[in-house]
Amino acid sequence: MYDCIIVGAGPAGGTAAYHLAKQGRSVLVLEKESLPRYKPCGGGVSPAIAQWFDFDFSPVISVKADSFRFTWKLGDPIEAKIPTKEPVWMVRRDIFDHFLVQQGQKQGAELRDNTEVTGIEFQSDYWQVNTANGPVTGRYLIAADGVKGPMAKWLGFKERKRSLAGALESEVTATVKDKSTMHIELGLVKNGYIWNFPKADGYSIGIGTFVGGERQDFKKILDEYARSFNLDIKTSKQYGYPISIWDGNQKLHTQNAVLVGEAACVVDPMTAEGIRPSIFSGLIAAGAINEALSGDANALEKYSEAMNEQWGTEMAWAKKLAGAFYRFSNIAYQVGVKHPSAPQVMGKIMCGELGYGDIAGRALKRLISGFGG
Ligand SMILES: Cc1cc2nc3c(=O)[nH]c(=O)nc-3n(C[C@H](O)[C@H](O)[C@H](O)COP(=O)(O)OP(=O)(O)OC[C@H]3O[C@@H](n4cnc5c(N)ncnc54)[C@H](O)[C@@H]3O)c2cc1C
Repeated sequence: MYDCIIVGAGPAGGTAAYHLAKQGRSVLVLEKESLPRYKPCGGGVSPAIAQWFDFDFSPVISVKADSFRFTWKLGDPIEAKIPTKEPVWMVRRDIFDHFLVQQGQKQGAELRDNTEVTGIEFQSDYWQVNTANGPVTGRYLIAADGVKGPMAKWLGFKERKRSLAGALESEVTATVKDKSTMHIELGLVKNGYIWNFPKADGYSIGIGTFVGGERQDFKKILDEYARSFNLDIKTSKQYGYPISIWDGNQKLHTQNAVLVGEAACVVDPMTAEGIRPSIFSGLIAAGAINEALSGDANALEKYSEAMNEQWGTEMAWAKKLAGAFYRFSNIAYQVGVKHPSAPQVMGKIMCGELGYGDIAGRALKRLISGFGG
């Protein structure tokens, strides 16, 4: 009987495993893929996550990017350096996620990859987790199985507040001349953006829409965008993948179990940043389960409250901002992105040096005045 079974070895599960094992709890991580596994992702990681760990991430940071280059329909460029203490980390997710789980293993967590969870049963005071390789048991359960995982449904979370976004990503191997600039294009796609993020040995190029709207031909648009960098994505694999965007506060706990990461719909509606909030939820969940194992009957409820207060409050602002920004992105580009302080503010938000609450009121006013209001 494990103290806790974690389903999913992404950033949320890896973080929870690390912190619970470090507290001396017995932890089993179940992952259906064989590690290291690929996850469609831009791989832009906020350096703010460093504050939640006592080890060094530099072995898995491919490059560090300290500049943005925004474009509108491939023109009207805005380039800016991000004035933060630490630049944004660019990672390859297979390497980054595996490293995180390995840190948990060093603390004593057990990993079984190639082990898909096929069902769960609550047995009066513990969970039986059925896997393709037989059942295992744990007193607590963490659902860290991402946007496509079945755990939330199995745990009885029927009506979930989330908006499902769509994205397409391609990892291109190439010689990268400028390894410090993140490219973001806002005019070629409606209700979202296209990115080109540098890595040591190539790029992550992708496209996503985050606030709904009509279907668009992602492949065609991404191909056109890639060609503007002299890259041919037709020769690289392209992966379509959903994103579980935050869409309101909700209960994230049930009997002896919690949801974390994209299973808990944590992704930022403005930037589609999911790694930092997934890690944050894994950290808070580990603390809560540690408290629950020590006898605090309200510990899991406190997890839901903490996520709603500490992440949900920020996301409520992000959602308001995203609603205005993406619906009227041509005006937003002119009065928002082109405002001299905008790239710096965006960078500081990504790096955790500013919160949406600090800027959203002002930014919304600027957008509204841009609409002639
Ligand atoms: C195209 C794209 C680009 C993105 N770019 C960025 C970015 O640049 N920066 C950023 O911060 N965020 C980005 N995101 C979001 C980010 O990738 C996710 O928010 C993040 O991976 C969520 O982490 P997680 O740990 O919750 O889940 P995941 O990383 O999805 O991990 C879940 C794990 O659970 C496993 N699993 C699922 N079902 C089972 C089962 N039944 N049994 C066992 N294991 C199971 C899966 O195999 C997987 O390994 C992007 C998303 C997409 C789609």
